[in-house]
Amino acid sequence: MRWLNLAHIIAEANMTTKKTGLELLREPFPAHQISRLPKPTANQTAEVKADFKKGIRCLQCGAWHHKDVVHLDYVGHAALTDRLLDCDPTWNWEPMGVDAFGQPAFSSQGLWIRLTVCGVTRLGFGDAQDKKGPNAIKEMIGDALRNAAMRFGAALDLWHKGDLHIEDNEIDWEESLKASKNRAEFERAYKAIPTDTRPQFAELAKAIGAKYPKLTEVAA
Ligand SMILES: [Zn+2]
Repeated sequence: MRWLNLAHIIAEANMTTKKTGLELLREPFPAHQISRLPKPTANQTAEVKADFKKGIRCLQCGAWHHKDVVHLDYVGHAALTDRLLDCDPTWNWEPMGVDAFGQPAFSSQGLWIRLTVCGVTRLGFGDAQDKKGPNAIKEMIGDALRNAAMRFGAALDLWHKGDLHIEDNEIDWEESLKASKNRAEFERAYKAIPTDTRPQFAELAKAIGAKYPKLTEVAA
C-alpha cells in the first residue's frame, strides 16, 4: 500500500505545479517561443531603401534594418497552436458566419470567429491589414485566433505592448537575405522572417543557401 500512497502524493504535487486547461492558456510563453518583430517607421524604411548601407544586421531579430527600429514581442502561429493543443486537444475555431458555399463569411473589414477551448467559447476578430488574396485570408485567420486567444489570457503580457500584426512590417526580407555575408548571417536572416511569410522566400533562400554547404535544411 505504501507505494500507492507515494504515487498519489507525486500525482498531487504535479497537479499543483503543472497547470492545465484554461489556466495553462494564461501561463506566459517561454522565451524560446517568443519572436521579435521589427517595426520600422516609414522614415526608417525610406532611409534604408535609399541607401542600403544605412541598415544594420540586427542582433535582436536577424533582419537587415535601420539601427533605431523598435521591436515587438510576439508568439507565432505554431507556438500558439501548440499551446492550444496542450490546453485542450479538441480545441476548435469556427467562423461566425458562412457563405452560400459553406465557406467562412468575411466581412469587408475582416473575419469574426468563435474560439472554443475546454468547452468555453469566446469571440475574436481578425483583419488582413494590407494583405491581398490568399495571404489576406491567412492573415485574417491568424489575427482572429490571436485576438480570440488573447480573450482567454494567452500571451496577454505581450499584448500590453500594442496591437500586433506579425506580417505587417516594412522590412525588405529579400534584401535582408541578400545582405547575408556568411552562413551564420544567412541563418539569422532567414529565421527572422515570420514563419507564415517564409514560403514566399523559399526559392530565394534555396538559391542563396546553395552558396553555403549544409544549409539545405534551413531553406527547406
Ligand atoms: Zn531587429
